[in-house]
Amino acid sequence: MTIEVGINGYGTIGKRVADAVRAQPDMEVVGVAKTRPNFEAEQAVANDYPLYAAVPERMDQFDEAGIELAGEVEELVQDSEIVVDTTPSGIGAENKSMYEEYDTPALYQGGEDADLVDVSFNARANFAEAEGADHTRVVSCNTTGLSRLIAALEDEYGVEKVRATLVRRGGDPAQSSRGPINDTLPDPVTIPSHHGPDVNTIFPNLDIDTLGMKVPATLTHTHSVNVELTYGADTEEVRDLLEGESRLFVIPEHMGIDGSGKLKEFALDSGRPRGDVWENAIWGESITVEDDELYLFQAIHQESDVVPENVDAIRAVLGTADRRESIERTNDALGMGL
Ligand code: NAD
Repeated sequence: MTIEVGINGYGTIGKRVADAVRAQPDMEVVGVAKTRPNFEAEQAVANDYPLYAAVPERMDQFDEAGIELAGEVEELVQDSEIVVDTTPSGIGAENKSMYEEYDTPALYQGGEDADLVDVSFNARANFAEAEGADHTRVVSCNTTGLSRLIAALEDEYGVEKVRATLVRRGGDPAQSSRGPINDTLPDPVTIPSHHGPDVNTIFPNLDIDTLGMKVPATLTHTHSVNVELTYGADTEEVRDLLEGESRLFVIPEHMGIDGSGKLKEFALDSGRPRGDVWENAIWGESITVEDDELYLFQAIHQESDVVPENVDAIRAVLGTADRRESIERTNDALGMGL
């Protein structure tokens, strides 16, 4: 039996989730919903995804553009076993009542508030907590990147405190209206940034402080992370641990990847769809432990690290696999591992 998945919102995250779901042997895409007949709507149809109108009043716009529709979004929700809502921040909250009306469990994204949902989700950290949930939020790209790292360290060494500075990309490559264009902004300038509390939705008792910045870049976020470990470890042990995690890619020194530009180039050369880097990319030579304090730099590809997490959240909510099975299945189907 395959899981029938609907995807509401076919933008940066939605189109990637659709392709990732389609790649899974135990899932199929019922259809995708869009508000406007733009290039992504055209591509959805070209990729054989049944396309549904997210705003029924705009159906004639698709008609005029010569883009064939399969129906309205409510039909998609009704026909799906689960919906992944990948609409812009705040729209997921507006869609919640529609999912409830059709009794269809929904996954939301990091742009929604934590209190919208029953559970915030990261596959490595709290997979089992989502079972049976009606409303689940796959946490943001930054929170996903921090949670994967913290879960691995917590399990092995215990974590006393995390301090992280998040140097965030100004916008995604296609977001021409975002910035800054020529500035380096403390953002937010107040401390801590909202990211620490968001990580606490996954690790409620974790002591974490985060600082945020925004810079004129589009390729990835970059985190400077400091973790105080509970039990002693040395640099080599921690590096071995991180190398053993399937969604952490420790960049070997010999590769000469000095930043996000070469990292993305490497992902493209490796044949990754859209040059996606689903894993946290941790610079190997940055991993340093001194007096039980770990330091490292990691790049987080904001457009794609949440994609495998959405796939796992589908199985977690429906209870069709446990954490280990699901992560393995997702990774195999996507071709994880750089
Ligand atoms: P996006 O703007 O690229 O895509 C959103 C899509 O939803 C677009 O296709 C848009 O046309 C469509 N849409 C708009 N209103 C809609 C409606 N009422 N019903 C159905 N579809 C509608 O946005 P995105 O970057 O993919 O972000 C989606 C969510 O994922 C947000 O919560 C965001 O915070 C989160 N997220 C984004 C990133 C990122 O870096 N892009 C990373 C992690 C999480």
